[in-house]
Amino acid sequence: MNLCDLLGDISEDNDRLTRRFATPAMKRAYSWVQLWMESIGMTVRVDAAGNLIGRYAATNPDAPALLLGSHLDTVRNAGRYDGPLGVLCALACVQDLANRGRRLPFAIEVIAFADEEGVRYHTAYLGSAALVGAFQHAWLERTDDQGVSMATALQGFGGDPAQLAAAQRQPSDFIGYCEVHIEQGPVLEAENLPVGVVTAIAAQQRVSIVWVGEAGHAGTVPMHLRYDALAGAAAFVLAAEAVGRATPGLVVTVGQLTVQPGASNVIPGTVTLSLDVRHQENAHVHSACRALYEQAIQIASDRQLSMEWRTVQHNNAVQCSPALQQVLAHAIEQCGLPSYHLPSGAGHDSVMLSRITDCAMLFVRCQRGISHHPAEAVAVADVAVALRVLQIFVDTLAERHTAFSR
Ligand SMILES: [Zn+2]
Repeated sequence: MNLCDLLGDISEDNDRLTRRFATPAMKRAYSWVQLWMESIGMTVRVDAAGNLIGRYAATNPDAPALLLGSHLDTVRNAGRYDGPLGVLCALACVQDLANRGRRLPFAIEVIAFADEEGVRYHTAYLGSAALVGAFQHAWLERTDDQGVSMATALQGFGGDPAQLAAAQRQPSDFIGYCEVHIEQGPVLEAENLPVGVVTAIAAQQRVSIVWVGEAGHAGTVPMHLRYDALAGAAAFVLAAEAVGRATPGLVVTVGQLTVQPGASNVIPGTVTLSLDVRHQENAHVHSACRALYEQAIQIASDRQLSMEWRTVQHNNAVQCSPALQQVLAHAIEQCGLPSYHLPSGAGHDSVMLSRITDCAMLFVRCQRGISHHPAEAVAVADVAVALRVLQIFVDTLAERHTAFSR
C-alpha cells in the first residue's frame, strides 16, 4: 500500500495523478519499479514497446513463464490503484518466493504495461498489443496534444520503434497470464466480498443514432403538427433501459445526447445519441442491439422521424480461461471465502493477451465502485486477501506443473 502511495505521487501534473505512456513521469515510476524488481532477484528489461518486464528465473532456464502484472499508465486525474495494484501484487508474490528461496518449475515474469489506457495516443492496450504482435506501425506516426509523435516519445523512453517486432512473444513462452485489478464497479461491495474471479471481458457494441424531425417555433407549431426529434429519442432512451433490465448481466447506456438547435424556444430538429451495450456473452449483445434497432425503427415510423443507426465499435467478449478461473476459485476457498465469479464490464490487457495465452483476472473490491478518479480506494485487508489468493494460485500451478512433468 505504501508503494501504491509512492507511485501515486509520480505524476506529470503537480496537483493530480496523470501518468501517460512514455512520459518522464512514467520513466520515474519505472525506475522505482525496476529497483524493486532487482531487489528481489529479478532480471529486468524494457522491451521495444516500452513495457517493463522483470523475470524471476525457474529451476530450468528454458522453462516457460507465468506472466503476472498490470499497467503503470493512468488516465488524467487518476486514482492510485487502477493498474499499479496489479503490478505491485505480482511483485509481492515474487518477493514471497524470494524470501523463501523458492524456485518454481516455471519462471515468473512480472510485466508493467507501458500503455493500457491509451490516453496519450488513443491506443488502448498498446503495450499488450506489442506482446501479441498486434502493434500497428501506423500508430508510430500519431502525435500527442503537444505534437510529439509516438515514435519520438517511444525512442526517448527506452523503447525502439524499429524493433517492435522483437517485442512479440510466442504462446510457448507462457503458461498463462494473471492480473489482479480493482473491480471498478460496485458488485463485490454489494456482495460483501473482498475478491472475485473474472469470467470474461464483456462484449461491447457502441452505436451512434441520429434522429431527424423538424425544428420549429415552440410557440406557433401546435402539438399535432410537430416532428420532435428529442421526444422520439427520449422514447428510445426508456426503451433502451427496459431492454437492459430485462436480461441479467446486460448493461445498456445512453450517455450522450446532442440536441439541435438546442434552444429553449425551439422544437428539437435533430438529436444524436450514443448507445453502449455490454454483456459477457456476444449473443446477448447482438440480440439486444437487434431488438433496440427494431424499436428505433418503430419509434421513428410512429413519429414520422428519420433515424440513422451507425455501429461505431463492436468488440466480442473475451473469455477468461476456465482452468485458471478454477485455480483462482480454489485459492479463494483456501482462504476460507466463497468464490464469486463476475464479468468485467471494462476492458483490460487480457483482451490482447488471450490471443497467445490463457488469461485470468482477480478483482479486488473497491470503495463504492469508484475508479478513474482520485477517490479510488481499496481496503488493506482486501489487498491482503488478494495477495494470499495470488500466492496460492502460483503454488497450485507449480504443484500441477511438477505433477505434469513427472
Ligand atoms: Zn486498469
